[in-house]
Amino acid sequence: MTRLVALVIGDATAAWHEALQRALPGFEVRVWPFATGLRADDLDRVEYLIGWVPPAGVFAAFPALKAVFPLGAGVDRFVGRADLPPHIPIIRLTDAGMARQMIDYVLYGVLRHQRAMDVYQQQQGAGQWWPLPPRSAASTTVGVLGLGEIGGQVAAALAGQGYDVAGWSRSAKTLPDVACWHGADGLDPVLARSEVLVNILPSTPETRGLLNAERLARLPVGASVINVGRGDQLDLTALIEGLDSGHLRSALLDVFPVEPLPPEHPVWRHPKVSLTPHVAADSLPEPAAAQIADKLRRFEAGETVAGLVIPARGY
Ligand code: NAP
Repeated sequence: MTRLVALVIGDATAAWHEALQRALPGFEVRVWPFATGLRADDLDRVEYLIGWVPPAGVFAAFPALKAVFPLGAGVDRFVGRADLPPHIPIIRLTDAGMARQMIDYVLYGVLRHQRAMDVYQQQQGAGQWWPLPPRSAASTTVGVLGLGEIGGQVAAALAGQGYDVAGWSRSAKTLPDVACWHGADGLDPVLARSEVLVNILPSTPETRGLLNAERLARLPVGASVINVGRGDQLDLTALIEGLDSGHLRSALLDVFPVEPLPPEHPVWRHPKVSLTPHVAADSLPEPAAAQIADKLRRFEAGETVAGLVIPARGY
């Protein structure tokens, strides 16, 4: 009998469906909600769920689930769900082509700060011709919060470009040319030295609300903030206050507490904010499907699988 995988995804379904079906020839990949005409007991035969933004209650429809594969690096929409029994492993994507995109995005943001493009953009709006003294990469301090599969590569790439980089993680890390800090005591030293702060943390009970007014105030005067982690980690009211007071210089935001960002939100029109609609690093069907197929095979063989989420940790 055909083995079944359910694909639960809202948009661009065809590309994902085709890539996953090619990568998983031993399974039939069916897009949820399943087409009409199938027997109800098909739901009992679904062994794996692959998805993004799973609607409330969807996991409960598949009583025979063996594992769930989120189509992304962030798993905040999967961990702690009442409809997903805690014994079902969640196996997330690890890089799968996202780190390269994130490096590009963050490098753009850091360069923009270093070369004062944010300041010149405002000068242009005001018809001002005020050249600023040049800044080198080596004299530009960057702090990267989150040194995981993606954040670690971003910090290393920035250091490779000559920036003065510090990073922060939960456990101790060693990265070439990156001053690595960890644990609760490691955050303040990183904030205090970061002229550009880059947030690439997963959303967990410990990181939600992390970048509040008090912590933003620890950044040096004239610092810029890049948020590519999750929107619930950065207090946008505190950010706007910091920008308006002149303590902070600019912000590049990709993620928001509510997405899509509501049209009335003040960051849309703030002159010191640039924003993008959660596109810093997209999941790509081909590399993601190949990685999921490999992880599924390892999971079935009882081997170690990279990206196995630890629910108590939240990522
Ligand atoms: P990851 O491999 O799980 O790495 C997470 C990093 O954060 C690790 O270094 C971890 O420390 C650190 N961390 C977690 N909780 C912490 C805490 N309480 N204190 C200090 N450090 C903590 O994740 P990833 O693949 O790099 O992705 C990171 C996040 O980026 C995702 O969860 C997602 O939210 C976001 N993301 C955004 C986009 C976008 O398009 N905007 C795309 C992809 C990912 P340890 O190393 O000690 O575990």
